[in-house]
Amino acid sequence: MEADPRAELAAIAASLRAYLEWQRDSGASGIPRGKRAPAVAAQATAPNVAPEPRAPDPPEPRTPRPLAAPVSLSLPPAPLDPFPEVVASRPAARPLTPPAARRSLEVIAADAASCTRCGLCASRTRPVFSRGDGKARLCFVGDAPGAEEDAAGRPFVGPAGQLLDRMIRAMGLDPERDVYVCNIVKCRPPEGHKTTAVETAACIPFLHEQLEAVAPKVIVALGNTAVGALLGGSAGITKLRGEWKLYKGRTLVMPTYHPAYLQRPGPQQQGAKRDAWEDLRKVMKELNLELPQKDA
Ligand code: SF4
Repeated sequence: MEADPRAELAAIAASLRAYLEWQRDSGASGIPRGKRAPAVAAQATAPNVAPEPRAPDPPEPRTPRPLAAPVSLSLPPAPLDPFPEVVASRPAARPLTPPAARRSLEVIAADAASCTRCGLCASRTRPVFSRGDGKARLCFVGDAPGAEEDAAGRPFVGPAGQLLDRMIRAMGLDPERDVYVCNIVKCRPPEGHKTTAVETAACIPFLHEQLEAVAPKVIVALGNTAVGALLGGSAGITKLRGEWKLYKGRTLVMPTYHPAYLQRPGPQQQGAKRDAWEDLRKVMKELNLELPQKDA
């Protein structure tokens, strides 16, 4: 007997309608996609839902069953990572101090040698950068070069520098090999000119870079100018000396008197020298240096 095409079509439409209504009654808001909601699995996990009776099969089952049709609507399976672009674009953690930004002492010194950032470039013979060991554990920081330093191109070579060298030797150290010596400001101010805040602000980036490169364990800040520039604040050296402070929150600083002050003739200097030695003894203890017998 010939199959009636209209009857077949009606049967297919009835089956498809039944399928879609079942999906709706199951709570589905659309056509299922891919492996997430295969029709067979959904049917097996919905025991309380009673599908409406299916329309009777067509008289001759030569036509494919309509329930196979939704499979062709499937989309590609969802990727495992639901936010691939977000993950890919997440910025990498930034190191606290980018190594590429750190310059060597030689490069910093060459930069300072041609510096004209402030007006002191007009009165200098040459910038005075540093002396000593660029890998020292102990760094002495003063204020600015004087006439002898300007002529020699080395810090602390005048009378104050000679006293500083005696202080360093008293610690059992070599002033040229065991310590690093530098100033806040690299160019000599004119006679009688006290360095200004503007000049200090222009020059101190060199010092910050120097200290980053040397990375000493202890810094000895010599006098008011050095203490103020390294630590900020307005407290004087008499108040601050002898107490450990921190530079940039990580490097120990011992404030003490400037050798130029200790050299002045006056009744207070003898006591100040004793205080300065007391401060240096604390530094020696911190660095595990051997104290002289009478001080141990
Ligand atoms: S004092 Fe410092 S900032 Fe000023 S010119 Fe000299 S090196 Fe440059």
